[in-house]
Amino acid sequence: MRVISFCTRFHAPTNRLSLFRRSHHKLIPPSSSSCFRNNNCSVMSGHNKMEQFDLSSNTVIDHPPALTDKITLTRDAGPSKFQVIADFDGTLTRYRVNGIRGQSSHGILQQGNADYDAKREALYEHYHPLEFSPLIPLHDKTKLMEQWWSKTHDLLIEGGLTCDAIKESVASSSIAFRDGVVELFEFLEEKDIPVLIFSAGLADVIEEVLRQKLHRTFKNVKIVSNRMVFDNDGRLVSFKGKLIHVLNKNEHALDMAAPLHDNLGIDIGVEDEENAYVKQRTNVLLLGDHLGDLRMSDGLNYESRVSIGFLNDNVEKSLESYREAFDIVYLNDAPMWGALELVSQLFPTEAS
Ligand SMILES: [Mg+2]
Repeated sequence: MRVISFCTRFHAPTNRLSLFRRSHHKLIPPSSSSCFRNNNCSVMSGHNKMEQFDLSSNTVIDHPPALTDKITLTRDAGPSKFQVIADFDGTLTRYRVNGIRGQSSHGILQQGNADYDAKREALYEHYHPLEFSPLIPLHDKTKLMEQWWSKTHDLLIEGGLTCDAIKESVASSSIAFRDGVVELFEFLEEKDIPVLIFSAGLADVIEEVLRQKLHRTFKNVKIVSNRMVFDNDGRLVSFKGKLIHVLNKNEHALDMAAPLHDNLGIDIGVEDEENAYVKQRTNVLLLGDHLGDLRMSDGLNYESRVSIGFLNDNVEKSLESYREAFDIVYLNDAPMWGALELVSQLFPTEAS
C-alpha cells in the first residue's frame, strides 16, 4: 500500500486557521516531501480535549502528479470558479462516534408516534436488503427505491411529524461531524465558495443537525435533499419537488447545475439564478464515502475535479477500488483536516 503523508501539524482550534493562513501562502504539491514531514496531526476537539490522529499514515494518493496538475489548474482559475460538493452521512459526519457506529440522518427520526416509527422500521427491514441485492436489475431496483421513499414520506405525513419532533430527534441522536468540518465551512464561507450537500435523506433533518451539532448555519452551504412543507402549527403536510432517493440523488447535480429554462429564454427565478451561479463554477472538490458519490458531479461539465474519498471501514477489502477512483483517500474515519489544508493551499489568505 502506498501511503503518502499529507499533513501539517495543527494546533489549538482558536488559531488553527490563522496558522494555516500564515504558513501556506504558496501551493505545496502533495508530492512534495517538505509538506509531509510531520507524522501526526495534533488537533483540539470542540471540547478542548486533545486528540491525536495520524493523518499521514491514513492518507493514500495513487497518482500524485495528476493530483498536482488538478490543484494547479484549480488554483490558477481562482476561488470564483470553485465549489465543493459533499455527501453528508459518513462523509461530513463520522462513521463511528465514541467507538460505536454513529447514526445516519436517515435513521435518527422519531416522529413521536411509536406505531409510525415501527411502520417505517418495517419498511426499512423489507427494502434495505433489496437496495443491496445483486439480483435485481437497476431499473426494477429504482422503482423499489421510489416505493420505499414514497411510502416512508407518506407515513411521516400520516403520523403527524412535527418540527419539534425533528429537533428532539436530532438532540438525542449520536450523529457527530468530523473534526475540521466547521473550520472547512468557515474557510469556504469567507471565500464565498459554495458547498452543495447532496443527500437522499431529509433536508430539514440535515439542517437541524447542522444547527444543533455545529451551533451555526453557513450562508454558503446548500442542502440538495428532500424538503418538507409544514403548516402553521409546525406539522408536516407535504414534500416539495421531486423525490430524491438513494439511486437518483446524483441526477440532481444536473438539476442544480443546469436550470431548465435559461436556454429557452424564459425568465429565471431566484433559485435558477443560484443554479446558474453554481454551474459557472467548473472546478470541483468532491467529498464522498462511497464510489457512487463520485457521480454527484455528473452534469456539472467540470473542468477539474479533485475527489476525496473517506474509506471508513473494510479498508483491506475496498482500498484498491477507492484508490483508483478517488484522488485522495483517507482511511479509518479520518478527520477533515486534509480537505481544509487542501483548500487553504488552493486559496490562501494573505497575512495582514
Ligand atoms: Mg455517505
